[in-house]
Amino acid sequence: MIYLELFYIVSTVLLLLGLRMLSSPSTARKGNIIAAVGMGLAVLISILDPIKNDHGNLLWILGAICLGSLIGLLYAKKVKMTDIPGLVSLFNGFGGACAVFIAIHEVYKFDATQSLGFMGTTYLALFVGGVAFTGSLIAYGKLAGKVRDWRNGISSYFNLFWLVGCISLILFQIYNPSLYPFLPLVILAASLIYGLSFVWPIGGADMPVVIALLNALTGIAAALAGIVYDNMVMLLGGILVGSSGIILTMIMCRAMNRSLLNVIIGGFGSAVHSIAGERRNIEKTSISDVSINMRYANNVMIIPGYGMAVAQAQKACKELDNTLSNKGIHVNYAVHPVAGRMPGHMNVLLAEADVPYSKIKDMEEANAMFSDTDICLIVGANDVVNPSALDDPGSPIFGMPILEVLKSKNIVVLKRSMSTGYSGIENPLFSNKKTKMLFGDAKESIESINKEIKTMD
Ligand code: NDP
Repeated sequence: MIYLELFYIVSTVLLLLGLRMLSSPSTARKGNIIAAVGMGLAVLISILDPIKNDHGNLLWILGAICLGSLIGLLYAKKVKMTDIPGLVSLFNGFGGACAVFIAIHEVYKFDATQSLGFMGTTYLALFVGGVAFTGSLIAYGKLAGKVRDWRNGISSYFNLFWLVGCISLILFQIYNPSLYPFLPLVILAASLIYGLSFVWPIGGADMPVVIALLNALTGIAAALAGIVYDNMVMLLGGILVGSSGIILTMIMCRAMNRSLLNVIIGGFGSAVHSIAGERRNIEKTSISDVSINMRYANNVMIIPGYGMAVAQAQKACKELDNTLSNKGIHVNYAVHPVAGRMPGHMNVLLAEADVPYSKIKDMEEANAMFSDTDICLIVGANDVVNPSALDDPGSPIFGMPILEVLKSKNIVVLKRSMSTGYSGIENPLFSNKKTKMLFGDAKESIESINKEIKTMD
């Protein structure tokens, strides 16, 4: 049907255009809508395609779409902002599960006419989809704080052994397709187990890499399923998600200074993170002291972290920025690539608060600016400013590039307690002589500072 192919091309173009627009914050919102329209169109065409839907399944499909949409809508409405990264992981996992369902359905239709390549593609979709599914569930649990890292001395070797086992089983099955009818289910189970064992041991500061990798795996699984179903939009969508996921994985690896191989085999050789470290003297400060110091500064750098998302302090930061800027003080924002709990988390929040993009500095740029910075205001960031990454070879995050706030003249940390960040390790920055701690909810602290500065000349 020529007109259906035409619609597929239109939806592909919309998808590409939308993704292209996502690359700039100023066009991202529109890009998201355009990509969603493209995807919606692709789904509609797939349903309407009379050739593929001649089994009387239309009602089932429509029913499933309505049910899924309703669950998605209700869940999305009630989910808290801080739970969005976990939700994104969960959705990613469902993408993998879809590829699993498609593949398992197809492998039981194989007959003697199937080519090795086609069988290999289908089993690969089954394997990659299964790994993405259970891996994403564990990632969701970790982001939600419901699953703790679990690793022991042999987990890396077990993962390697299991991966080789899965590949061998797939090879055996495609060369002997009708020997053991239950083998596809064994491959499915082995894939699901690999997803669990691969993600479970990886934790702490390595999580951003894993999350990006799981995204890439879901994209690859969808692309493979697209080949199996001979569906151009599915193939293209999968390739786009897979390739952007791989690029993101590389960016995250660079940001964490970890090799991809290290992550793929489950943090092979990486240190087990600890919560060791004695608590040294810390210096507390007050709203009025911070306000006075900020009022008489020339350059202020705001450093947002996950705590800003928890406190929903982004608008308060922008208001403080306005007050300081009106008094001639230069304010910028330093954003670490893994700050928060999902790639681009801080950028999204700052954009929501209408912080101009020109004020948002990436890690390299910010590190070059710190020597001229009078005050670094750390808003709920912890791991991304932990100097152990630079000077403590025994630290699990040693080697990870950080925002080098110690180069600045003064540091004020806004947080509620002395608890650790996501990686679970102590932060010696808090006891540094340049640092003052202002305990409390970040939003409330910033609002009080802003109020006080407004009353000053
Ligand atoms: P961290 O998780 O290191 O620290 C967040 C800090 O915010 C905590 O120390 C907490 O201290 C504080 N906080 C929480 N709530 C509030 C509040 N209401 N007001 C003030 N402070 C608050 O965050 P970072 O952004 O520095 O680092 C991100 C970490 O997450 C990295 O380890 C990264 O690897 C990991 N990660 C990142 C992902 C990504 O894609 N970006 C994905 C998964 C993990 P307290 O409780 O004392 O207030």
